[in-house]
Amino acid sequence: MLAELRSLQNTALQELAGVESPEALETWRQSFLGKKGQLTTLLRGLGALPAEQRPEAGRMANETKQALEAAYAEREEALRGQMAERDLTASALDVRLPGRPPALGHLHISTQTLREIYAIFGSMGFDILTSSEVEDDVTNFQMLNIPPDHPARDMWSTFYLTRPGLLLRTHTSPGQIHAMHKYHPEPFRVILPGKCYRYEQVTTRSEEQFHQVEGMAVGRNITMADLKGVLAHFAHRMFGSERAVRFRPSYFPFTEPSAEVDISCMLCGGEGHVAGEPCRVCKKTGWVEILGCGMVDPNVFRAVGYDPEAYTGFAFGLGVERVAMLKYGIGDLRMFFENDVRFLEQFS
Ligand SMILES: [Zn+2]
Repeated sequence: MLAELRSLQNTALQELAGVESPEALETWRQSFLGKKGQLTTLLRGLGALPAEQRPEAGRMANETKQALEAAYAEREEALRGQMAERDLTASALDVRLPGRPPALGHLHISTQTLREIYAIFGSMGFDILTSSEVEDDVTNFQMLNIPPDHPARDMWSTFYLTRPGLLLRTHTSPGQIHAMHKYHPEPFRVILPGKCYRYEQVTTRSEEQFHQVEGMAVGRNITMADLKGVLAHFAHRMFGSERAVRFRPSYFPFTEPSAEVDISCMLCGGEGHVAGEPCRVCKKTGWVEILGCGMVDPNVFRAVGYDPEAYTGFAFGLGVERVAMLKYGIGDLRMFFENDVRFLEQFS
């Protein structure tokens, strides 16, 4: 009996050492410690022993049982650790949370449009020049052929500053004067972007400002054909090569002759109507205006010191928000300045 117990214990512990899974462990438990297990069967035989051998055999049997149960618990614990380790390293499911990405901002639609304009004129050799938003009356008006009391001043509703003679520029055109001073007497090509201010724009407090881009080319033998080539190329790059472009006579005090540039309407394709209804974008004309332009007036050249007999040039001005509205079908100028994220994030 004692030898059998010792033999059983050795066999059981040996087998337990080879157990590698919870299923195998359970099979081992039933095989040795279960109701029909080998140890249980052996213990049942205790009653058949002679009375003097029973106490010794009973004690040994208990020791064997405790040893196997302890070994079982230890192995179970070790297996559980191994399984958890394997789950963490080999499982297809990664239970770690990814980090939360920060919300990225993007450039405002006005800035994006400005940069597109820079790129188009940059490819035609135009430099970018910036100038002050606070101007004097002489540069903003008088040197551009708009003397005091000239009726053309009604075209610009001006914010005058408390210091006499100073104002917030009403257009980027005074940049033409700064450019000519800067490059005189050399030929040059520049665009002059920036913010302008007019109180006619005010319907809420945020709308007294808007962006313009002025452009100017000065040199010898520059003609109206150069103006038309440059601006038609710009219109096609910005709005699509399928757009028709036309130059319509107009008036500006600082250019002669002057023109407005129109492109065929993007909504109706120049037809003037959509599905039998009058087109709401071009108001039935088939054309939308994109900018004003003209040949530099000799008086403007004289004011800065370029000889109008030797130099010619052209100038143009366009509204950045207007370009974006036409290009993206934006219906209301106020959206550019309201900072409504629902509007702005459409242009990321
Ligand atoms: Zn139309």
